[in-house]
Amino acid sequence: MDYETVIGLEVHVQLLTKSKMFCFCSADYVNAPPNSHVCPGCLGMPGVLPVINKKAVEYTVMTALALQCTIPEYSRFDRKNYFYPDTLKGYQISQHCAPIGREGWLTIDSNGTKKRISIADVHLEEDVAKLWHRADYSLIDANRSGVPLMEVVSEPEINSPEEARDYLIKLRAILRYLGVSTGNMEEGSFRCDANISIRPWGSKELLSRIEVKNMNSFKAVYQAMEYEARRQRGVLEEGGKLVQETRGWVQERGITLSQRSKEYADDYRYFPEPDLLPLVFNREWIEEIRAKLPELPEARRERFVTQYGLPLYDANILTSSRAMADYFENCLKLMHPSKAKLASNWLLGDFSRLLNATNTEIENTKITPEHLAEMLNLVDKETISGPTAKTVFEEMFYSGKRASTVVAEKKLSQISDAAEIREAVKKVIANNAKAVADYKAGKQQALTFITGQVMRATSGRANPSLAREILIEELGGK
Ligand SMILES: [Zn+2]
Repeated sequence: MDYETVIGLEVHVQLLTKSKMFCFCSADYVNAPPNSHVCPGCLGMPGVLPVINKKAVEYTVMTALALQCTIPEYSRFDRKNYFYPDTLKGYQISQHCAPIGREGWLTIDSNGTKKRISIADVHLEEDVAKLWHRADYSLIDANRSGVPLMEVVSEPEINSPEEARDYLIKLRAILRYLGVSTGNMEEGSFRCDANISIRPWGSKELLSRIEVKNMNSFKAVYQAMEYEARRQRGVLEEGGKLVQETRGWVQERGITLSQRSKEYADDYRYFPEPDLLPLVFNREWIEEIRAKLPELPEARRERFVTQYGLPLYDANILTSSRAMADYFENCLKLMHPSKAKLASNWLLGDFSRLLNATNTEIENTKITPEHLAEMLNLVDKETISGPTAKTVFEEMFYSGKRASTVVAEKKLSQISDAAEIREAVKKVIANNAKAVADYKAGKQQALTFITGQVMRATSGRANPSLAREILIEELGGK
């Protein structure tokens, strides 16, 4: 029997607010000593009352709007009761019945085909403490306890590991464009759990839903989904039965292992959080937020194609991060608009290569958009040749110097002075009697060799077309 894979993703996103979700502790805890960003509130002491972080609500509304969700008249927090050492209060304040956003969508582009994935809801909760397991004991760091955590829940409409990866990349790009999260998967500010099941083709009913956790990179999600779809098919083909359970992805072994039988919503005994009033949304406030939404990746990509005439491929990569797209546009402001492709080639070529090699984010590079534009204008005006530009660029990248400074210091500007080139040509002709004879005997490739010698004699700085012209003239024309 042939099966269809069905995946739903739950993405937890730490919001970039200054303080935590329900207390006044700083949410900026990465690299802080353990348990240094804590108070009676986020330590779960009895009798302490929560206070809602308005910025976190605003960021969640913003995200929900960007994902085409409806914002209801009111929203509410619920208590999710469960005992686990990382949940210091014995419950987590979350949203179960009345999330901030619902029924939206996100469009992915898988292999050139657009597909809309429905978003069930976008809701807000608090993060839990971090546990450090040692050989025979565990430690608790409560710095993360109470950090605003937004959850984006998709409908089970993702049908392959590729689509799952595309969905996550797209979602993270949107969050970064909005500036609501760093989206850093390694640091845990963007975490993904997946519900995956299979069903016979054409069937509408899902077989047992299996939740997979512990995937810490896009690659891990892709591999885990691929593994799990295969494993589930294998179980059924061998006549086995699938049970609803939670499994953990083990990166080193490339497999998922059963962790526990999956709990149902009823197990948490959700009830309205008695210490907080419901959120009632003022429509004007919602519309103010909507009006402030930045141009999102998809719209920007389309604009790059129509406004700058860039190929879709270029536009796609340039707009994959807001910082890259901003850099490109800031650079282009100082250039002729028709040179967009030249700027794109450099950004996607040498620039990206050096950024990757040095593990640098574009916003932290020493080359400013103004400096890159200046260099590209030198290339465009043929003050420096293409190959020389690569040398200049590399020097600029590491030193932060301007192109004009590097060109002057290294005497790299192109030689367009005919007399100077003619002098070099004469020397080359005198020193390469055999090649000259070959050329005169009709061997065209001898000319390529002699031209190469002229370029070498001028350290690659001779204007190539002028050099060739003078060379042919000196060789007696043809
Ligand atoms: Zn606190």
